[in-house]
Amino acid sequence: MTILVTGGAGYIGSIITEQLVEGGADVVVYDNLYQGHRQAVHPKAKFIQGDLADVPSLKQLFNDHKIEAILHFASYTLVGESVEKPFMYVGDNVTNGLNLLKTAVEAGTKYFILSSTANLFDDPERIPISEKERIVPGSPYGESKFILERILYWLDKTKGFRYTALRYFNAAGASPERGEDHSPETHLIPVVLNVPLGKRDKITIFGNDYPTADGTCVRDYIHVLDLAQAHILALQALQAGGESRRFNLGNGRGFSIHEVIETARKITGHAIPTEFGPRRPGDPATLIASSEAIQSELGWKPKYPNLETIVGDAWRWFQKHPKGYEY
Ligand code: UDP
Repeated sequence: MTILVTGGAGYIGSIITEQLVEGGADVVVYDNLYQGHRQAVHPKAKFIQGDLADVPSLKQLFNDHKIEAILHFASYTLVGESVEKPFMYVGDNVTNGLNLLKTAVEAGTKYFILSSTANLFDDPERIPISEKERIVPGSPYGESKFILERILYWLDKTKGFRYTALRYFNAAGASPERGEDHSPETHLIPVVLNVPLGKRDKITIFGNDYPTADGTCVRDYIHVLDLAQAHILALQALQAGGESRRFNLGNGRGFSIHEVIETARKITGHAIPTEFGPRRPGDPATLIASSEAIQSELGWKPKYPNLETIVGDAWRWFQKHPKGYEY
C-alpha cells in the first residue's frame, strides 16, 4: 500500500514525506515543481513530476500504484496573490483538487488528508479559534480550501470516502534536512532571517496599530515537525477506522511580530533593523488556534512549542542552505 503526497517537493509536503518514509512508509510524490524543489524530495520516495490539471497523467499514476491514502498539499498558497488572481485559486486550486479526488475515488483510494488553512477564520468571534467558530474565508485562497472541505464532506456522505482536514495556522521551522525555500519569500520568519543572511537590509512591519499588546499582528507559529506528526496521527486514525474530521492545528500560543523579531535577534546575534509600513490588506489582528480537539481526539501534542526552537531550527537550516535548495 502506497501513500501519495501531492506537493511533496514543497516546504510542508517535503518534510511530511521525509517523516513518512523514515517511518517506513512507501511514498509517491507528485509535484509540478512550480514552487517545489526536486532536491527537497526524500531519496526514498518515488518522484513523479506532474500537474493535477493533467488527468491522463493522474490516471496513469493511480494505475501504476495502489494508492491507499493521499496527503494533498499541491496548491497555490498565497493569500495576497489570491486576491489579485481569484481564478487561480477558486479556479485552479478547486479544479485540480477535484481532478485528484475523482481519480482517487474511481481508483478505490480510501483516505485523504487535506492541507487546509486558518484563512477560513477571517473574523473570529473567539480566540483561541475552535472548530465551532463560524467559517468566513478571508480570501479566494481560503475559499478554495473551504470548497474542497465541502466536496470532501459530500464524498464522505455519499461514497464513504474518509478524510481529515487540517487547518494550519502559521507553519514554521525546519527539519535538519529540509526547510522553507519560496520564491518570492513572503512569510515572516524566513523574511526576518534574510536580514542576518545578508539578503535584505531590514524588515518592514506591516502595521503597528492593531489592537494587540504591542500593536503588531499576533500569529500562532507551529513547528513543521509538529505539523508532520499531526498528519501521521490523522492518517493512522483513518486507517484504524476513524470518522472523517476537521481539526484546527496550531501551537495554541500567539506571538507578535515584535516577539518574532526579538527572538531572531537573540538567536542570530544580528541587530535586524525594522521600519513600520502600512497594514497588509486582509491581515486579521490575532489568529491563535485552539488545538484542544486534535489533542484530545488524536493524542497530538506539540513537541516544539517554543518560539526559540521554531526560529532556531529555521535559522540552522538557512545557515546550512543560504541559497535554499540551489546547492
Ligand atoms: N509580516 C510583516 N512583514 C513581512 C512579512 C510578514 O510584518 O515582511 C507580517 C504579516 O503582515 C502578518 C505576520 O507577519 O501579520 C505573519 O505573516 P505571514 O505571511 O508569515 O503569515 P500569515 O499570517 O499571513 O499566514
